[in-house]
Amino acid sequence: MSAKVVVVGSLNMDLVTRSPRIPLPGETIIGSNFYTLPGGKGANQAVAAARLGACASMVGRVGQDAFGRPLLANLDNNGVDHTYVSQDPEAATGVALITVDDAGENTIVLASGANMHFSPAHVDAAASAIAAAEVLLLQLEIPLETVTRAAEVAQAHGVRVILNPAPAPAEPLPAELLSRVNILIPNETETSLLTGLSVEDRPQAEVAAAALREVGVETVILTLGARGALLAQASESILIPAFKITPVDTTAAGDAFVAGFGTALAEGKSLPEAIRWGNAVGALAATRLGAQPSLPARLEVEQLLAEPNDLSFERGV
Ligand code: ADP
Repeated sequence: MSAKVVVVGSLNMDLVTRSPRIPLPGETIIGSNFYTLPGGKGANQAVAAARLGACASMVGRVGQDAFGRPLLANLDNNGVDHTYVSQDPEAATGVALITVDDAGENTIVLASGANMHFSPAHVDAAASAIAAAEVLLLQLEIPLETVTRAAEVAQAHGVRVILNPAPAPAEPLPAELLSRVNILIPNETETSLLTGLSVEDRPQAEVAAAALREVGVETVILTLGARGALLAQASESILIPAFKITPVDTTAAGDAFVAGFGTALAEGKSLPEAIRWGNAVGALAATRLGAQPSLPARLEVEQLLAEPNDLSFERGV
């Protein structure tokens, strides 16, 4: 039977326009293509886990509007259970207004809408789904008290809690939340914002990871883009190198990593082996355009993992 992965998090519709350049304040620019694409870090991670063969459930909130329905249909199409994605009678479905210019730079305005009306009570309503999972995946695009409640419910049922602190919070994360997180997975930017330290090289990454462990999380995994990921625990730290690929668009590489790692962990794989899965899923997502369209199927991941290109783990202190 497939490993169960539950995601408590955000669902957004990404409204993407292409423009020759990013407009200045007050300026109107004629752009070109327009796309509506299902997104939100929570939904991306749930779809990624389902494509890897996990039995994936999404817990979240959308509006009763023209974007809410296609987001639910998208979960159906990807085999993600959405019994506990509730519909807010008033708030709009979350949207991300994204402008991408010809140089590949982007600006994003996130109108969270229903995601911010996702309350701890909605998490309680989904407690049975959380309790039945092997791992819980959390991000920070919903209210912090809702994230904390989900971690609390999971912890009470012995479900492993993985927090991807994205987007990086403006304030330090509360101890009440961190004490319930088993594994924290920030990228370089989030690590710097959370610790005030830079993460330019391996020694700096080790210091930053240690600082994050000091705030109360036992296992920290820093994702380091093309360098791979650093696993930091009390006993040791291991750098698990990335797969060598030519990146095309790294959008959602972080979501892909977290889902790949979480699914492998839910299947009983060791931490280093689960990180290899995360690296493989992240690398494949980086070779293709878009967020959800770039998320790979299990077979592609297994093929990449079978290639003998990253057999060595670089062990540290
Ligand atoms: P985010 O997308 O949140 O900024 P990262 O850039 O750290 O996160 O990417 C997450 C993971 O995806 C990395 O740890 C790595 O495994 C994989 N990845 C991302 N970019 C590349 C790349 N250029 N080459 C190989 N793997 C990559």
